[in-house]
Amino acid sequence: MVLVDTHAHLYLPHFSDDIGQVINNARDNRVLKILLPNIDTESVSPMLDLCARFPDRCYPMIGLHPTSVDGNYKKKLSFLESMAANGTYTAIGETGTDAHWDTDFLKEQEDSFITHLQWAKKMDLPVVIHARKTMDSLIRIIKTHKNDNLRGVFHAFSGTPRQAREILNLGFKLGIGGVVTYKNSGLTPVLESVGLDDLVLETDSPYLSPVPKRGKRNESAHILLIAEKIAEIKETTVEEVALKTSDNAARLFNLDLDQ
Ligand SMILES: [Zn+2]
Repeated sequence: MVLVDTHAHLYLPHFSDDIGQVINNARDNRVLKILLPNIDTESVSPMLDLCARFPDRCYPMIGLHPTSVDGNYKKKLSFLESMAANGTYTAIGETGTDAHWDTDFLKEQEDSFITHLQWAKKMDLPVVIHARKTMDSLIRIIKTHKNDNLRGVFHAFSGTPRQAREILNLGFKLGIGGVVTYKNSGLTPVLESVGLDDLVLETDSPYLSPVPKRGKRNESAHILLIAEKIAEIKETTVEEVALKTSDNAARLFNLDLDQ
C-alpha cells in the first residue's frame, strides 16, 4: 500500500526541530510522496531546501496563498513567476480566495487567482486551489478561463454535493483531509455522491489534524487516519482508498510511484 500527501507545509517552523523524524514517520506509514504548496515569497527558500534534503519524497509547488495577497501582491507575483521560470515545480499553488479572515483584498485575491490560472495553462501544470467562503465565485472564474489542459484540485474541500459535482465536471479533483474525521463535517454526503477516482488525500500539515490527533500538530503520517475514515464512509478497504487516490495523485501531479 502506498499513500500520497498532496498538501503539507512541512517547511514551516512548526517542524524545524524534528523534520527528519516527521519524514521517517511518513515513510513508516507508507506515505511515499509529499507535495508542498508554497505560501509567500519568503517561504520559497525553506520549501526548496526541504525538497533538496528529501528528493523523491518532497516536491515543491509555486504560488501565492490568498491570505498573503496584500497591497504588494503584484511584486510578489512577479518574483514567484521568475522562480517558476527558473525551477522545477510539481504544481501551481496554493492560490484561490479566502473571505473568512479579511475581505479587504478580495478583488486582488481574484486577480492573483486568475494570474495563477494563466501560469498553470502556460506551464501545463495542475493548480492547487484554496477556497474559503468563496467556492462558487472560484468555480465561475475557472469556467471563464478553462481550456483543455487546465486541471487541479480544490484542496481541503468543504462544499456541498452540488459544488463537488460542478468541480468534477470542470475536470478538477477534491482534496480530502482531516476534516472528514470531524463530527458534522458535512463531507459524508459529498463522499457518498462521488467516486474514489474523484479524490486525492492531503493533511494540510501542520493544520487540520484528524481525530484522534485533533488540536495537535498535523503531519503527513496522519494520511493513514484520513484514508481509514474514507474507507469507512465508502464501505471499502483502506487498501482500495490508497490505491485509487494515490493513482489519481500520480496522474494529476505526474509522480512516479515506483521510486
Ligand atoms: Zn495549505
